[in-house]
Amino acid sequence: MATIFSKIINGEIPSHKIAENEEFFAFLDINPVSPGHTLVVPKMEIDYIFDIEDDVLGRMMVFAKQVAAAQRTAISCKRIGMTVIGLEVPHAHIHLIPMNKESDIYFGKEKGTPTQEELAEIAIKIRKEFK
Ligand code: AMP
Repeated sequence: MATIFSKIINGEIPSHKIAENEEFFAFLDINPVSPGHTLVVPKMEIDYIFDIEDDVLGRMMVFAKQVAAAQRTAISCKRIGMTVIGLEVPHAHIHLIPMNKESDIYFGKEKGTPTQEELAEIAIKIRKEFK
């Protein structure tokens, strides 16, 4: 059965897309740990990120770097933090999180519940900066 992220990539489930290419897709996390929290996902369904072939993983990092550059320009923050968890959704993904302080990237706190309008507004800002 297709993962929820495959359904997002295929447009069966709506998302706030940031960018995509032939291999990867980036969209806003619906429950961000900080505003602008974005997920980078390979279109190929694979559960564990370190099972991804070296060359694909390398290209995924380069794509994540491009997304992070757009986030950093669009959102007021010191830098973009990166983490991999993968305990909830069995489809490899990188979390890219704008942060000013360490707690901005802490997953143990209560996550945000932005409205669709708020997410759409942030997505527009980041999308505009994606090169
Ligand atoms: P994890 O697998 O532990 O890395 O966490 C999965 C992440 O996916 C969580 O941060 C969720 O908020 C996020 N997530 C789950 N479903 C959706 C969705 N439909 N749209 C956007 N983000 C989602």
